[in-house]
Amino acid sequence: MPCPVYFAMHLYLHVPFCARRCSYCDFAIAVRRQVPTDRYVAAVLREWDGWQASGAFDAAADAGSAASSGPARPNHVQTIYFGGGTPSHIDPAGVGALLDGIARRRTVAAGAEVTLEANPDDVTAARAAAWRAAGVNRISLGVQSFDPAVLTWMHRTHEADQVGSAVNALRQAGFDDLSLDLIFGLPAALGRDWDRDLALAFALAPEHLSLYGLTVEAHTPLGRWTERGEVTPVDEERYAAEFLAADRALARQGYEHYEVSNAARPGRRARHNGAYWRRAPFIGLGPSAHSGFGRRRQWNLREWSAYERAIAEGRSAVAGVEDLTEEAVALEEVYLGLRTVDGLPADRLPPETVAAWTGAGWAVATPGRIRLTAEGWLRLDALAVATP
Ligand code: SF4
Repeated sequence: MPCPVYFAMHLYLHVPFCARRCSYCDFAIAVRRQVPTDRYVAAVLREWDGWQASGAFDAAADAGSAASSGPARPNHVQTIYFGGGTPSHIDPAGVGALLDGIARRRTVAAGAEVTLEANPDDVTAARAAAWRAAGVNRISLGVQSFDPAVLTWMHRTHEADQVGSAVNALRQAGFDDLSLDLIFGLPAALGRDWDRDLALAFALAPEHLSLYGLTVEAHTPLGRWTERGEVTPVDEERYAAEFLAADRALARQGYEHYEVSNAARPGRRARHNGAYWRRAPFIGLGPSAHSGFGRRRQWNLREWSAYERAIAEGRSAVAGVEDLTEEAVALEEVYLGLRTVDGLPADRLPPETVAAWTGAGWAVATPGRIRLTAEGWLRLDALAVATP
């Protein structure tokens, strides 16, 4: 009798609640001082139940794994990621209830990576202990900068000196896998010292760092300031200089810059995000969450209230569905491959393209593979689109 084959699934939970909106943020969030944790947990678990009852979970795992290069394993859920929004803003008991509810329906692999995004001002010894006891084993801390004036400009809720105490509390609670988020490419007029911020982040010895370039989105305070001419966005030279300075500093500190926006100590790459870059199947739960498996992409209702109402009334929370064409899948594979140091199979690109990119210093060729350099990552979008 043939052995049953099971596939790995990756879960993303979008927690939409934030204490206030940051000046640059256009994510799907709901600003709440009091978070309706119980209602949120009930809605998400009901959505999760729907994936099981309809057979959609197995269909997604099968479809996605057929297109994935990831190994098949006899486990169902390999990674869980609480993103937001601000997952640390909900009652920690809700995190435990969600993890219990997920595991009641599906096997969560022993050693699964369970990440929770947290803002430094939410981290207390009690909360850190509660997250750990609930099964969270990785924290992604939204630091962004250690400069008080910059944090004020960003409308962040935390103070610079809360970062160190948050890291201490998390270490005390037993977290040995911490990631810090920083934002670079800020307007020059802010006078932000990027080298200092990097040095302060390294001093906290995180296992992982995520470095994001600031983008100006319409319909945000930053978008309005920019439109009115009150803020001048960073120019290309400064943006590139900060990105390349970070790349060099990461190498000096022993971090592997393994994806355009991410760096890790050896063995500490983010497994959940890695699933996205491999096009492994993932299910998103909660308002605005996206799911992807095989060629299918689907996304939930964006607003918390609309999402909650749909779930309560027994309707689907799905707002849209798209099936990618073969060409779109191929382009996505190129784009995702070029994002990481694993790169692409060399034969995926014409020899003249490989020669042009390596000659320009944008890529390096290794036996059978080609991957972008930091200089290449600065041109990622243009290179991916220009790929035949
Ligand atoms: S905490 Fe994060 S999700 Fe919330 S407003 Fe700020 S950037 Fe957006």
